[in-house]
Amino acid sequence: MKIGIDLGGTKTEGILIDDDGKELTRDRIKTEKNYEGTIKGIVSIVKEFEKKFGNSTSVGIGMPGAISTDSALVKNANSIWLNEQPLKKDLQIALDRKINLENDANCFTLSEAVDGAGKEHSVVFGVIIGTGTGGGIVVNNKVLRGKNNIAGEWGHIGLPNRTDNEKKYVKKCYCGKDGCMETYVSGPGFASVFNLTYNTQHDSHKILDDLINEDKNAIKAFDQYVDHLARGLSLVCNVLDPDIIVLGGGMSNISYIYENIDESLKKYIFSDTFDTKIVKNFHGDSSGVRGAAWLS
Ligand SMILES: [Zn+2]
Repeated sequence: MKIGIDLGGTKTEGILIDDDGKELTRDRIKTEKNYEGTIKGIVSIVKEFEKKFGNSTSVGIGMPGAISTDSALVKNANSIWLNEQPLKKDLQIALDRKINLENDANCFTLSEAVDGAGKEHSVVFGVIIGTGTGGGIVVNNKVLRGKNNIAGEWGHIGLPNRTDNEKKYVKKCYCGKDGCMETYVSGPGFASVFNLTYNTQHDSHKILDDLINEDKNAIKAFDQYVDHLARGLSLVCNVLDPDIIVLGGGMSNISYIYENIDESLKKYIFSDTFDTKIVKNFHGDSSGVRGAAWLS
């Protein structure tokens, strides 16, 4: 039995699965917005599961952000009270065992690679296009972390070959850089590009409604969105050439993407043949917590 914990900014979710991935139980609590409270919450979920089902063989935790390779402290987490803290070490002390701690996009990708949409593929690239944008690489059901723990970090590379209009109608990224993929393909990024272009105040749901009603500007915006996604993913394909690409996050539910992206991608791939599938995730919102359980 394996325990997975998905540590989010507002909720902490736990799952207990057996060795075949069958869910035995699940729990969700509010995340305390301070360091000690966050640790206590995680410990309480683990203790509760083990009281009911007996000892687990592993505990894995997925969280936004990363563990610095230099200091072993958390960095880049939007749950800011975790930054600069030795979270892994303190959780190991609190739980009296070794644990696995991993970036949430890597957990998503692992979940989909093990028994989701990327099952039976060796090299899986996972993409989160939601409130933010991230990515992860899993090879033979193991997370590829890279030397600096940044492998697959796809959200903050620049959109390739930006036109003047694409430079003009976009917000600066919170990370401080200009032209990041996140500012074009996350939900808020997509809406922001649309609003700056058409001087509106829509969110991505409104633009999607307009697309369904065949609004001219919405169709144009989604064609452009698919093209942005394809340009970003073409970099991944030209470097990594994964066996499959799995999309997650709120924007991944839009079927227009899957209907149109193959054609866009082929334009940017340096190969005469290209048959890599871009697919929607299988486990939906459960992928983060399931991937955390599969960490080892
Ligand atoms: Zn950025």
